[in-house]
Amino acid sequence: MERTHLRNLSIDELRDFVLQTGEPEYRFRQLAAWIYARLESRIDDMSDLPHAFRERLASSSDVTASAPVSIQQSAIDGTRKFLLEFADGARVESVLMRYDRRNTVCLSSQVGCPLDCVFCETAKGRFQRNLTAGEILDQLCLLKSEAGPPSQKINVVFMGMGEPLLNLPSVVAAIKVMNDPLGLDLGAGRITVSTSSFPDRIRELADSGAECSLALSLNAPNDEKRRELMPKASHFAIADLLAAARYFVGSGRRHATLEYVLIPGHTMADADAGQLGVLVRGQPFKVNLIPYNPGRHDPFQRPTEAEIDRFVRRLLPVAPAVTVRRSRGVDIDAACGQLWNASLMEKKKPAKGAA
Ligand code: SAH
Repeated sequence: MERTHLRNLSIDELRDFVLQTGEPEYRFRQLAAWIYARLESRIDDMSDLPHAFRERLASSSDVTASAPVSIQQSAIDGTRKFLLEFADGARVESVLMRYDRRNTVCLSSQVGCPLDCVFCETAKGRFQRNLTAGEILDQLCLLKSEAGPPSQKINVVFMGMGEPLLNLPSVVAAIKVMNDPLGLDLGAGRITVSTSSFPDRIRELADSGAECSLALSLNAPNDEKRRELMPKASHFAIADLLAAARYFVGSGRRHATLEYVLIPGHTMADADAGQLGVLVRGQPFKVNLIPYNPGRHDPFQRPTEAEIDRFVRRLLPVAPAVTVRRSRGVDIDAACGQLWNASLMEKKKPAKGAA
């Protein structure tokens, strides 16, 4: 019989799973606390569960279905990038960023990405598959346990590898466990789903009951430029995307941010700032500018501070709120758009002489 990945169960399914073994309800609460509050992944170490129950659990199930293959740490800012491997050998990267008073984890939702945004490294790898909810939660639990005491709250961003809205059922299921007081107990303000398109799915996310915020990767001030930079994500017009983002904001006490990658010669002209200003004026969106991080394959340049300042100054008078994202972990290829790098590529070429 196939083993059960406990983190791939919803909180209700976890309860049923425990009740089916003949244990009382409170054992489920104890188990949930071990998995999500104490972040324990070894069933054997769950010391207040009866020995027989632990043995039964361990014979049929696992808390985690992933193992860290390598961890790299930035010498600049302490950001750590984790390469995780799942049972079938698929690998993703996840990133842990420390700020003064908070930790943020950047999660992957797919192995590779089916989109083809020209400025993003992830798009240059092969798309393999969607992650399960449990594989998404494995990333969060592992990185959270590395971040500090389990009681500390953490911010979660779906900005790693993949397009979260093309794996919506797993992403929604994972967020519901993150929201649950018996799960990770994180509110909408602590979880951000970043997407490049798909207005219908933005609405579906809004109606799903998953409490989270939205980030829309706009990245261009008009449809024509957007098509050049994000061909597959530009099937829908910017106007449709913004309407869906407004629906998301209107569907609860939720926030939406527009992300905009600053690429000199492509998205940073004064006219681009002007057009972006027209799009966001009077809208309920913050704008988060992301200075382009170079990949190994593409011809773009990182913007200078002077170029960034000039763009911000043009936008500020009309935009409700503008921030500039200072990318973390650039020296270990952990910054926005840099995931899926050499360490993953190597996996595809079996070493010469390997058995
Ligand atoms: N597929 C999702 C989530 C992953 S990308 C999405 O597109 O939103 C997370 C953010 O990083 C997106 O806003 C994306 O536009 C941005 N990004 C991608 N490549 C980048 C690069 N090379 N430099 C800076 N930001 C980049």
